[in-house]
Amino acid sequence: MTVINNALFQRFETIVGSSHALHQDELVASYTTDWTGRFQGSTPLVLRPGTTDEVAAIVRVANDAGIALVPQGGNTGLVGGSVPLRGEVVLSLLRLDACEPVDILAQQVTLEAGVTLAQAQSHVSPFDLAVGVDLAARDSCTIGGMIATNAGGINVLRYGPMRDQLLGVEAVMADGSVISHLEGLEKDNTGYHLPGLLAGSEGSLAVITKARLRLHPHLEERCSAMLAFNSVQDAVRATAQLRRSVLDLQAVEVIFREAMDLVSTYISTSIPIGSDGSAWLLVEAASSSDPTDQLADAIDQLGALVSDVAVGRDSTSRAGLWQFREKITEAIATQGTPHKLDVTLPASQLAEFVTKIPEIISRVDSGATAVMFGHLGDGNVHVNVLGEGGLEPHEAVESAVLNYVAQLGGSISAEHGIGTAKKEFLHLNRSSDEVAIFRAIKSSFDPKGTLSPNTLIPPEQQ
Ligand SMILES: Cc1cc2nc3c(=O)[nH]c(=O)nc-3n(C[C@H](O)[C@H](O)[C@H](O)COP(=O)(O)OP(=O)(O)OC[C@H]3O[C@@H](n4cnc5c(N)ncnc54)[C@H](O)[C@@H]3O)c2cc1C
Repeated sequence: MTVINNALFQRFETIVGSSHALHQDELVASYTTDWTGRFQGSTPLVLRPGTTDEVAAIVRVANDAGIALVPQGGNTGLVGGSVPLRGEVVLSLLRLDACEPVDILAQQVTLEAGVTLAQAQSHVSPFDLAVGVDLAARDSCTIGGMIATNAGGINVLRYGPMRDQLLGVEAVMADGSVISHLEGLEKDNTGYHLPGLLAGSEGSLAVITKARLRLHPHLEERCSAMLAFNSVQDAVRATAQLRRSVLDLQAVEVIFREAMDLVSTYISTSIPIGSDGSAWLLVEAASSSDPTDQLADAIDQLGALVSDVAVGRDSTSRAGLWQFREKITEAIATQGTPHKLDVTLPASQLAEFVTKIPEIISRVDSGATAVMFGHLGDGNVHVNVLGEGGLEPHEAVESAVLNYVAQLGGSISAEHGIGTAKKEFLHLNRSSDEVAIFRAIKSSFDPKGTLSPNTLIPPEQQ
């Protein structure tokens, strides 16, 4: 673990104040273990700055002293990037939680990095505006963390991931300098797009302190439907058809068999339709006028592809359907520490992938099972490996699954990022020339390796 001598501790404490420089075991515990419990680190110090100037001062001191920092938001990241696995100092951004007034003319807002997604949603909704990205961790995940991971979530097929919402950032660079580009110009071709580069950089290039986000009209009128399918292939075909025919399509989420059984038990509610099915879609259409007919017509056109349908029009019945999707991650967490794999497949390979995965996993570890769900509209499947095998067999399973994904032309990380968990598999999707460019970018932003040095980029082979 990093050693912080007294003089250094006092310099950090002077910047943030004694109540925001935490070192006692019981106070740092929640900052050193990730949401899943799989990644447990240790730290000599958690620093909780309240302003960008304080962030800059901390980073400057750390960079001068050769101390590595791990920026942390809500600590809901799922790839071990938010916790100090090599004894780094944790830089918590949660106190940067101010929301600037909504710019109604531009339909934009500037938010500090520690604002949670739920706070951002409540801040903009009185103006009939909405944040383009939504995900189940909304009460804890922060704008800074969502940018750093380029979070996706349930509305990517309509609005894109976090990178597409970003019009500008303020960020502290590894030497403590601050860059700020928050004017929010929709057209601004003045060179490299630094916000786009920071999106998905997982804390390795700069500490994001503020962001200017594009907002979208809040679509009050909504209709949700749960569709049951007898085969995965039918669900994939139906998704393609719905994407063509429902202009106001907001989300197409999928729940596969094991995940449906697990969540139904967890929420003590029986599966609403198609209890013998193989896959269920949760489909939502949203518009300024009632989209129910549009969605109903499109579902009718699916004909025999669908085995059963349940529709939710009012907010209570919609929430009743959505709980089956939103509670899955919690339901899985009750079964032990899952090994989470988050992959994207080309549409043409999705059904084969989902169908073959149980066999591929049991070949490596007969005690392991896969619980799968995801964002089918984006080809994104979350594979959660559970079982008696313990972590090492799970790593062998991970290798088998990710190699299979790459063989099918898919991505080993759809939306959670690489973090520390997937570094050794980066070569499956990125050539050595690309990884060399990643290293060059990292060293030009952060030559001393102050910011998250253990994340995203694998060590060079000797
Ligand atoms: C129940 C649940 C559901 C989820 N659903 C989704 C989903 O649908 N889609 C999806 O994409 N993800 C999902 N996630 C993963 C996670 O919520 C997102 O990755 C989220 O964006 C992380 O935000 P955070 O504030 O918790 O970041 P953290 O977990 O604190 O950090 C994540 C990474 O970002 C870096 N970081 C954090 N803040 C900053 C900053 N200000 N500047 C620079 N780097 C920073 C960290 O160092 C780390 O590498 C889910 C997680 C949970 C627990």
